Amino acid sequence: MIHLHNGTVIDGTGAEPKRAGVLIEDGVITAIGQAAPPAEARLIDCTGLTITPGFIDIHSHSDVMVLENDRAKADQGVTTEVVGNCGFSPYPCGADAAAVRRYGHAILAGGESWGWQSAAEYLDYARRQSRLCSVWSLVGHGSLRIATMGPRQGAPEPAEMDRMEGILEESLQAGSCGFSTGLMYAPGSSAPREELVRLCRVTAKHGKVYATHMRSYTHQLLESIEEQLDLAREAGCRLQISHLQAVGRANWSKQAQALERLEQARAEGIDVAFDSYPYLAGSTVLTQLLPQWTLDGGIPAMLSRLADTTLRPRIAEETIAQTAQQWNDIFVAATGSAEGARWVGRNFVEIAEERGVEPVEAVFEILEEENGDVNMLSFNQCDDNLRKLLQHPLCTVISDGFYVKGRPHPRLYGTFPCLLGEMARERGWLPLHDAVHRITGKPAERFGMRGRGVLRPGAAADVVVFDAAAIRARATYESPQQKPEGIRFVFREGAQIT
Ligand SMILES: [Zn+2]
Repeated sequence: MIHLHNGTVIDGTGAEPKRAGVLIEDGVITAIGQAAPPAEARLIDCTGLTITPGFIDIHSHSDVMVLENDRAKADQGVTTEVVGNCGFSPYPCGADAAAVRRYGHAILAGGESWGWQSAAEYLDYARRQSRLCSVWSLVGHGSLRIATMGPRQGAPEPAEMDRMEGILEESLQAGSCGFSTGLMYAPGSSAPREELVRLCRVTAKHGKVYATHMRSYTHQLLESIEEQLDLAREAGCRLQISHLQAVGRANWSKQAQALERLEQARAEGIDVAFDSYPYLAGSTVLTQLLPQWTLDGGIPAMLSRLADTTLRPRIAEETIAQTAQQWNDIFVAATGSAEGARWVGRNFVEIAEERGVEPVEAVFEILEEENGDVNMLSFNQCDDNLRKLLQHPLCTVISDGFYVKGRPHPRLYGTFPCLLGEMARERGWLPLHDAVHRITGKPAERFGMRGRGVLRPGAAADVVVFDAAAIRARATYESPQQKPEGIRFVFREGAQIT
């Protein structure tokens, strides 16, 4: 029995802070209030400290990290993670499990072999293995497709389509919390609309969430939102737009329209919401810059297309046309080989100069040298847009973090303290209780997590105690792997993990 004594309680519902104590017994919160604690309770003096629910990260790529009990999230106060985002989940594995591992490699940073095949097996393993957080998982469309039909692009055969539906159904029944797409990533990007409608209908039937990394966040941002709204309308599913933002200076003005369109859609009855991370830069695989048809058949096929002197100029032209950022906004974050590490932390103007080639050619050369295994970090947005996203009533705050061997995006180590410290306290973008709501009660409600994300008697004792005047992220773009400051205690189901 633990009593968090005399703190400032922010309960996660969006309500204002109040002075109270929190009593934890057998992994559950049993009382909140001013009453004197029972004599047998271990007393933790929380005078001057803030007590909140454990943080919930609904857009995480920690599918494999949670199994290894990596501390990057626990140190920030995260006690629940939703993995399987952007079309990438480490299951189903199908007949050729290595194909799904290869597909997920850059994002999931998985080990050499995975011991599971299905949603049921992964979830069961995660539940037994993960000490630091509760794991919720979406079925990734890309993984589902590869397990069913390999890395081939284009429409599935009717039997393959039936099989995809069947596996999705089975996964949702086994406890997956929804379905995710990554429509900027091959091969999912090549799926015909009918395939997405059918899979979203299965998701809708179970009342679960459909989360999407849309087809474009750049020049086609508004068209992409329309596509997803149409899909949600037709399939009747709940729609979560992942890491919403307008990428590239030329597109910044579109964000206001995008937000207006989402508000309208809600008024029309579509259950849509979105999430955003509190950083101006994004991070993904470098192959993202290429036209996705070049990835038909996987990385080896992409490399042989680049090697084809008749195709290379066309690929260059399309890459330039679709890249919304400036070349000096795009940095190498990680490379597969040790020799490639010298490019980490440098942008493509610098790299191109040193190599004596055009920036687009530098992108191709590095992909070739690294066998396609390169991650990038790119500065996408402006401050004013980021503020409007984080303040928007439909916004949940997420990390979108994933581990890479070079220099991971600082969001993996700093998202939650960055929101509460820099964004809420220092910049005054949000009152603290509103910021807390966006990483506790709000995401819990979105995913139907009962008894999580709120402090009330009967809820799971996922609790964070921090110093609101001192909490801050120390992770930076140059030096991301740093523990935050100001977090005193983290409890997961009553067990102290930090
Ligand atoms: Zn994504």
